[in-house]
Amino acid sequence: MISRFFKYIRDDEVDVSERVYVLNIHITTLLILLSMFARLAVRGMVSDTLICLVSGLGYAIVAITAFKLKRKGIGAIINCACLSNLFFPLVFFYCNGIHGDAPLWFIYGLMTISTITTGAVRKVLYFFAYFSAVVCYMVAVYYPNTLHVLPSRDAYLISIVTLVLLGTSVISTLILQNKLFEKENARVQEQNKEIEGLIASQNRFFSSMSHEIRTPINTIIGLNEMILREDISDEIAEDAVNIRAASKMLLNTINDILDMSKFQAGDMKLLVENYNTGSMLSDLVGMLWIKAKEKNLELKINVAPDLPSELRGDEVRIKQILMNILNNAIKYTKQGYVSLSVECDKKEDGNVNMIYSVEDTGMGIKKEDIPYLFTAFKRVDEGNTKHIEGTGLGLSIVKQFLDLMGGTVKVNSVYTKGSTFVIEIPQKIASEKELGEYDFEKRHNLKHRSNYKQMIEAPDAKLLVVDDNESNLLVVKKLLRETKIQIDTAKSGPQALQMTLDKKYDLIFMDHLMPDMDGIECFNAIRNQLGGLCRETSIVVLTANAGEENRGLYAKTGFNGYLVKPVSGADLEQELYRQLPKSLMRITDAEAVEGGESITLMTEGQKKSKVIITTDSGADLPLELYEKYDIAVFSLSVKTGEGVFKDLIEIDTPGILKYLENKENIAEAVEPTVQEFETFFAEQLLKANDVIYIATSSKIEGSSYPIAKEASKSFDNVYVLDSMNFSGGQGLVALMACRMAEAGMGAADIIPRLEIRYQLVKSSIMIDNLEYLARMQRVGTAYSNLMKALLLRPVTVMKEGRLVRSGFEFGSKERVWRTYIKNCISSCKPDDTVIIVNHVGFNKKDIEWIRNEIEKRFTFKKIIFQQSSPSIAMGCGPGSFGISFVEDREV
Ligand code: ADP
Repeated sequence: MISRFFKYIRDDEVDVSERVYVLNIHITTLLILLSMFARLAVRGMVSDTLICLVSGLGYAIVAITAFKLKRKGIGAIINCACLSNLFFPLVFFYCNGIHGDAPLWFIYGLMTISTITTGAVRKVLYFFAYFSAVVCYMVAVYYPNTLHVLPSRDAYLISIVTLVLLGTSVISTLILQNKLFEKENARVQEQNKEIEGLIASQNRFFSSMSHEIRTPINTIIGLNEMILREDISDEIAEDAVNIRAASKMLLNTINDILDMSKFQAGDMKLLVENYNTGSMLSDLVGMLWIKAKEKNLELKINVAPDLPSELRGDEVRIKQILMNILNNAIKYTKQGYVSLSVECDKKEDGNVNMIYSVEDTGMGIKKEDIPYLFTAFKRVDEGNTKHIEGTGLGLSIVKQFLDLMGGTVKVNSVYTKGSTFVIEIPQKIASEKELGEYDFEKRHNLKHRSNYKQMIEAPDAKLLVVDDNESNLLVVKKLLRETKIQIDTAKSGPQALQMTLDKKYDLIFMDHLMPDMDGIECFNAIRNQLGGLCRETSIVVLTANAGEENRGLYAKTGFNGYLVKPVSGADLEQELYRQLPKSLMRITDAEAVEGGESITLMTEGQKKSKVIITTDSGADLPLELYEKYDIAVFSLSVKTGEGVFKDLIEIDTPGILKYLENKENIAEAVEPTVQEFETFFAEQLLKANDVIYIATSSKIEGSSYPIAKEASKSFDNVYVLDSMNFSGGQGLVALMACRMAEAGMGAADIIPRLEIRYQLVKSSIMIDNLEYLARMQRVGTAYSNLMKALLLRPVTVMKEGRLVRSGFEFGSKERVWRTYIKNCISSCKPDDTVIIVNHVGFNKKDIEWIRNEIEKRFTFKKIIFQQSSPSIAMGCGPGSFGISFVEDREV
């Protein structure tokens, strides 16, 4: 029986928590029964002996029943509850209260709860255990007669026996439990190893599957290309083109699945090497322009000349990221253009942030779909995209590569209008030399053409192709037929070695995975071959083994080039062009340059700036300043009886004031819509990578802030800032932002600075014409009449973004103005750079008078007078004027 018990406890098949419970039942029952014998021996009393007997047996019976009914959880709860709330109080009252062994049982009860229960139940049991202990102690304090008092000797003896029993049981339980957990730990580690092994074999499977699929696709694509080169009927040509598209699609899907499985196994690694920025970009452009051309889309390329000419990073993966985004841009655009802009942000420490923006005029992405774009297998807007082929893996892979590289991707999109993806990738600068103006148009044409055109001819050159697969040999031979190069083939490494003893080849294409001797062994053998004639010959690996670890391996081995199957005729000729001595070849198609028309290189004027500052027409700045700083202004609208008019575009301030002179007429501001803001932001994003919008204080009624904020959710690069001001104050915050942008700061630097510095902007307004405001129902008529009678004019200042009445000025117009100017400007130490005075309907004389008053007391370098925009003028009424300046203090 005992051996059965230990066998059960050691049985790894049984859940650990179940074994711990069984262990506890045995030990606790034994303890209670042993305690019973101790009491019997010490005192010979029936009552507490009986308590122990009933409790011990009860404990065991509950557990046995629970096991029988397969209700171990409930059994454990009843056991713990009885131990702490029944057995403990009985022992307490029958055995001398705190002077007996009850407190030891209480602690044991808590330990049992910790051992055999979990979760919320455990917490409830703790609570009740403490509660019964407190009740017992309290009853003992206030009703000492309820305690059964034992002679001191008996109490000590029982306590000692219980202490030894419980102590021993606690120690043995802990030791056993530890052993169980150690064993469990070892088992989990074993399992983890097994899982790792499984993942590794899954990866091996995926990579060999990729290899196995690439080999036949190589034959399909290669031979299909040969069909396309023939003089065939349109119908056959169309079929062959479809075969080519389907094979490439299959290949892309395989590549994506392979990448995804590597990411999931945490096995994706980058291969960091120096690469040439220009050729990386021209490879990209070369691959793209055909696709753009096929869809009749314009392809705009804009590459900043200050890019470092050489960078250090994983070129292949960066190309993959950009290809994915650019392919999508072309795929999801029916008409218009796709543009790629490349800029860089050089850091002090020899690093550079490469910024790639891909913009299209396609179908756009719904705001609510943007968060799911990067989820694997998720295709958004399925109604519109289901007819466009894709797996929903591309962007997820892009995101994971960017995470691996420490890069970011941001999406700005307006549904039905187009999307912009901005990708930033940190890279090391390998050469400080700048790229300069790069002629992509010329370079891409040499490499990539939709229809085959022979590029070179090399009848005197000798090529050896080594591959165990005969179809592959056939494909290479056929694809290079037009070049007239002399081709020999070898079906194995040893055969190749035989041939290199007899003939000096100018180039060798070598497969990697071959039986007997693989490509790397064969490479090494050729390089060290005694009497070999090809020890110096360029050897290019031509393999179906894609993946960065293989690239690394081939580079380390010393191969002169790397071609991945399936290869096209153009790929092979390109490699010949790269590897063969120039004396052995003749370029037959230097200007194989049809079709450059779909690429447009952007001119300087079209280049995007880093950030553009925008605001609304209520910022009340002079036109020259808007123009000087290139501030884009969102026009607010005013509604009159005659219709809705756009501020400063369709209506000016004198116009609206004149209209309102007629006491019958009223006007009101029109709330802009989210859509209007989306369009506005989308237009600005054509000009800059980031857009900052300075809004009127959100605490002022009718502020555009919440609407602009909502619209900005469609874009990752639009930042809406609450200026906590309005009119000239808002304008000053916009100017602060412009100065920061001028100093070369990006949005990420400007926003936090502005969020502190806007506090320094002081602005206020003095309302002159309350009658007018009463008519607009902005103040009560009685209030307006009273103010007029008392010759009072209210002054309102901006405080924490709110317009609050700071007081009233009393007396004649001049007196009121003078006091307002004096009080307002001397309320703090002003920065003397600039002060803005916005006014509603002032004439030259008024303006000169105010200028005089300001100059008499203060020394501002520049005083800007600006008529308020119609929407502001309408809100304050004629005769009002406001003062805005920046306080001179550190924040
Ligand atoms: P897919 O294989 O479906 O193209 P991706 O992961 O590349 O998978 O893209 C996910 C989804 O994002 C696409 O199904 C498409 O709905 C949307 N999408 C990506 N790029 C664009 C774009 N430039 N314009 C519109 N929608 C896009």
